[in-house]
Amino acid sequence: MPAAFFGHGTPMNALDHNRYTEAWRAFGAEVPRPRAILVISAHWYINASAVTAMASPKTIHDFYGFPAELFAVQYPAPGDPQLAGEVADLAQPTRVGLDTDSWGIDHGAWSILVHAFPGADVPVVQLSINATKPLEYHLDLGARLAQLRERGVLILASGNVVHNLRLIDWGQPDAGFAWARRFGEAAADVMTTSPAALAGLQAREDFAVAVPTPDHFIPLLYLAGLAAAAGQTARVLVDGCAMGSLSMDAYTVGCRELATGGGGGSPALPRVPPDETNI
Ligand code: ZN
Repeated sequence: MPAAFFGHGTPMNALDHNRYTEAWRAFGAEVPRPRAILVISAHWYINASAVTAMASPKTIHDFYGFPAELFAVQYPAPGDPQLAGEVADLAQPTRVGLDTDSWGIDHGAWSILVHAFPGADVPVVQLSINATKPLEYHLDLGARLAQLRERGVLILASGNVVHNLRLIDWGQPDAGFAWARRFGEAAADVMTTSPAALAGLQAREDFAVAVPTPDHFIPLLYLAGLAAAAGQTARVLVDGCAMGSLSMDAYTVGCRELATGGGGGSPALPRVPPDETNI
């Protein structure tokens, strides 16, 4: 089974149709039908390792200041308690708790899934990002989860390689600052040649401005880890920047090159202050 990382950007991408959402749609249409989807989302960033293990995960609207239409989105995919148990087994000796009633499917997951798997008929399980662990831990855990690919599980990581909400420039909806483009290119170099070295990006001078908090960057480490474990490299599915300080780059592993259209459509952007968005 292939695997992927998607830069999700603003939650409004769930409702929008642009070159990024078109790339997500093309990916979902291309891959073999998965037994289940395991999502590592930037928005389940907690002080513990946990996996959703409920039969019917709820759709979580974990943001503020967006239109009612976005709060009305539901993604009623079933859960997969058996897969949750497999994830916990593979993660050992790290203990991964089975969450039966707390989390569900957050917008980092469903803003992608509504495009990639609009039928919501493939079971979805989420793995939390343990905020107490160093970058290398997430690379290693991604490698240990790699064998799920051979069991028909599609692993989707969702974040943003460059994600600095404090520096967002609403005046350039479909462009990036020079440092954002530069950091995105450095990440692309590593992902397409030697993904096992991805954590080394933290030594770069521009890491602090591109990754002021690690929550949106860490999902990419899971794709890097599982690619490295399989001796594979990643392919760029779609790339670009938004609002100056976000990158929308997406990567696939184990997937042929897709014709994703392009054409430079810009993502729809809500005119709300970044502090209120939690994107
Ligand atoms: Zn986000």
